[in-house]
Amino acid sequence: MLPVITLIGRPNVGKSTLFNRLTRTRDALVADFPGLTRDRQYGVGRIGPSPYIIVDTGGIGTLAEGVEALMERQVQRAVEEADHLLFLVDAKDGCTPEDMEIVERLRRLGKPLSLVVNKSDTTDPSLAVADFHQLGLGDPWAVSATQGLGVRGLIDHVFAQL
Ligand code: GDP
Ligand code: MG
Repeated sequence: MLPVITLIGRPNVGKSTLFNRLTRTRDALVADFPGLTRDRQYGVGRIGPSPYIIVDTGGIGTLAEGVEALMERQVQRAVEEADHLLFLVDAKDGCTPEDMEIVERLRRLGKPLSLVVNKSDTTDPSLAVADFHQLGLGDPWAVSATQGLGVRGLIDHVFAQL
């Protein structure tokens, strides 16, 4: 079984964009991995030496149901399957009240967790990183899902923690 890396975060932070970046091919086949539920978006990817399974938790449902219901499902899934959680936030928006709410819930899971500041191409990365220190998760990883910046380093970091 490959390690399962799960993307968590409020809508529009770039989870699906990072999913596509980490898998390169959309909807890679995961039929050969029994035990995974079919009701969410999985992909198999490899950047660096080792392959992984990536889960985009936000791909199902609608924004209309709200962040609360979305998080309920995301967190449930995270507990079930993930080996490592990537909590995505948005450098353009800075740290939001929703981000604070989400981190409280994630912290209680006791799963390996990395804070990822996406869209770091839109602002000075060091400023973005500083703003997110208040989440209490230490130094975030600054990435740009659209440009591929910082992505290899992030994956290496995840593998070092498995
Ligand atoms: P999700 O709702 O978390 O899955 O977010 P999406 O992946 O759908 O992205 C939301 C929007 O943010 C889209 O318009 C993306 O093109 C944009 N976006 C995602 N990643 C980046 C990034 O690294 N830099 C910039 N500038 N925009 C991004
Ligand atoms: Mg999405």
